[in-house]
Amino acid sequence: MNAPEFHAPGTLSHRKIRGAALIIAAAATLMLAFQVVGQWTHDSPFAGVIFWAEVAAEITVVVTIAMAAPLALREMRGRRQLATTAIEARRQVEMLLKMTDMLQSAMCYADANAVLRATAGQLLPGFGGALYVFNNSGDRLDLSIAWDWPEDSQPADTVSPSHCWALKRGKPHVNQAGPGALRCEHHDQSVVVFEIPMMARAEIYGLFNVQASGPDAEARLSGVAPLAGAIADAMSLALSNIALREKLRTQALRDPLTGLYNRRYMEDVLERYANLAKRNDSPLTAIMIDLDHFKRLNDEHGHALGDSVLSGVAAAIVGAIRPCDIACRYGGEELVVLLPDCALIEGVAKAEMIRARIESLSENYGTRITASFGVATISETSAKAGDLLADADAALYRAKQEGRNRVGTAPPRSSGVVGLNLAAAAE
Ligand code: GH3
Ligand code: MG
Ligand code: MG
Repeated sequence: MNAPEFHAPGTLSHRKIRGAALIIAAAATLMLAFQVVGQWTHDSPFAGVIFWAEVAAEITVVVTIAMAAPLALREMRGRRQLATTAIEARRQVEMLLKMTDMLQSAMCYADANAVLRATAGQLLPGFGGALYVFNNSGDRLDLSIAWDWPEDSQPADTVSPSHCWALKRGKPHVNQAGPGALRCEHHDQSVVVFEIPMMARAEIYGLFNVQASGPDAEARLSGVAPLAGAIADAMSLALSNIALREKLRTQALRDPLTGLYNRRYMEDVLERYANLAKRNDSPLTAIMIDLDHFKRLNDEHGHALGDSVLSGVAAAIVGAIRPCDIACRYGGEELVVLLPDCALIEGVAKAEMIRARIESLSENYGTRITASFGVATISETSAKAGDLLADADAALYRAKQEGRNRVGTAPPRSSGVVGLNLAAAAE
């Protein structure tokens, strides 16, 4: 926030006002004295001198008041501004403390989003905002919440860490408007965006964006930069706690809601299956599944139905795979199936079968239920275990972009071209 211009006690202006007050007091005393003396000596030869001395004292008082009044007014305005600034600073600190307190009870990202939205609405009025958090595989950040962006410059759905200056440098970055500015490619040229990486315990957990538009956008953003930084700091710790809670949840073997294996177990198995596949020169396929518009389903029909749908989907998956296949809840409404000794084309057929089964659940639940799929295979599309899930996730992401409720495949390793949508092509 810009420091207001005013003169603190002890400055030149303050000393001048004090001097003026002394002069006025002295001249007024003299005036009084001359008037009293003038009463007694109006017949004496000094009466004329005393009269002019009194006039001089009056002139001194008037001139001093005229000179000191503007300074005094300025001083008063400065003090009023100081008081206003202090009250505003106190309000901001109180809001930040309240935010930190609320965040301690945030159990999931949705809770953290709600607290951030409410706090930013009060502390950063007139600015757009967005929060990105890492996806389950940690290779990109997904938009968690956004508000008040211009209709024609909405924030990107995802951010790749390698394309973001703030994340690459681990420092706040201002994406200035106009050509020639150093901007992250996920931002539109017409908005100015201040990006703050959200760090806690030496790790990045998310990215906070504050956006402004118009000719004075940069100046306005620089005015709220410290406040935005304080909000991001308070949020970072909450995000790291949520991530830690998720991690602890995965310490157990199975997910309590769906009964599927949890992510940690699947990652162990993936490593073993990949070694086995290499040894036997056999394929290993991964199917990544993400329920479509699941947030909307929760919002429209309630979390309880959402939970029930997740269990139903898990059962449908388990019913479609072999005993040696591993189905896991990767996180939220994302699921992964590992199919040992299964080539890409068979994996795509299996994904298509699961896709149809999930879609057919719509009738049971009285609402449309669909999912999107990404399929990748060692060694047709991916060289090693480390690439397999990232490649399946990228294929899934494309399936989402192409319209959802479909199966996407990772591109073959040799050609490097974008994978065909085999399921869509088969239709
Ligand atoms: P998209 O088609 O792009 O995947 O949209 P989406 O709404 O499914 O994706 P998004 O990632 O925005 O939202 C995922 C939602 O899944 C938000 C979260 O509330 C919900 N979800 C995650 N875990 C659970 C859970 O255990 N139970 C319920 N009911 N909902 C969950
Ligand atoms: Mg998802
Ligand atoms: Mg989803």
